[in-house]
Amino acid sequence: MQTDSRSRFLIESCDVRGQVVHLDHCWAEAKARIDYPPNVGSVLGEAFAAAALLSGTIKFDGKLTLQVRGSGDVHLLVVQITSDGNMRGLARWKNEPVDTRPAVVFGTDARMTITIETDQAAEPYQGIVPLEGESLAEAIQHYFLVSEQLQTQVYFAVSDNRVAGFLLQALPTSEQVASDEDGWGRATALADTLTDKELINEDVQTLLHRLYHEERVRLYDPSRLAFRCNCSRQRTDGMLISLGETEVSDIIEELGEVSIACEFCDANYRYDAVDVTALFKGFVGSADNSGAPH
Ligand SMILES: [Zn+2]
Repeated sequence: MQTDSRSRFLIESCDVRGQVVHLDHCWAEAKARIDYPPNVGSVLGEAFAAAALLSGTIKFDGKLTLQVRGSGDVHLLVVQITSDGNMRGLARWKNEPVDTRPAVVFGTDARMTITIETDQAAEPYQGIVPLEGESLAEAIQHYFLVSEQLQTQVYFAVSDNRVAGFLLQALPTSEQVASDEDGWGRATALADTLTDKELINEDVQTLLHRLYHEERVRLYDPSRLAFRCNCSRQRTDGMLISLGETEVSDIIEELGEVSIACEFCDANYRYDAVDVTALFKGFVGSADNSGAPH
């Protein structure tokens, strides 16, 4: 059984492409770190599915970040996925929201930002959409319509053990071959009959057969997804160096060590006095020469 995967498919007779995402281990890992209230966990799960689906619709080499910020109960939601399929994410909340509608969860002023950073492009791509509608799914659909002018329909289902996502997208005119004007309507009407239970429990083949056995469907090999954090000692070194030797030495003097925990994966990076001395010795060009000499 394939878990933590994203499968692409093409409904040739409808000129519609799609994806199914299932996250099991990844979802367990994300929840193992923070004890989320149900309605917060639910939107975080949807965001994991959304990020996995979004990254599957574009060709890129780097990192995609889906972030929601607002003044509501959940003030920060962030999920990242690399082009290799490594995911991480978290939510920060003040109170448990009473339901999962975006306006309630994130506040009416909330914005969803989708950022794509690649090694090739100096400037990251960034798309920002207001979180209108009744669900995160509607916001994602709106994003596709605005940013790519492509009709898109997404479905999410979140259970304790699994997050599932289902996406349908009309092919750009240039790629259409069936030229069936009813294709999009047919594909989405059938997808609307999907229940959360089916989306969670059924494998991709079963789902597609159940919905589209009367259509010509091509299913591609799945790609693996996993929970993996890209934090590292090297990055933490960089963070300390940018803080400056004086600041870091003050912390060492006060606390005996510097300890930096990664919020995504719980990794803990510790530095004692020797580590800190070595770190700044190896760093040429420190601007920290303003203080009195020791
Ligand atoms: Zn980490």
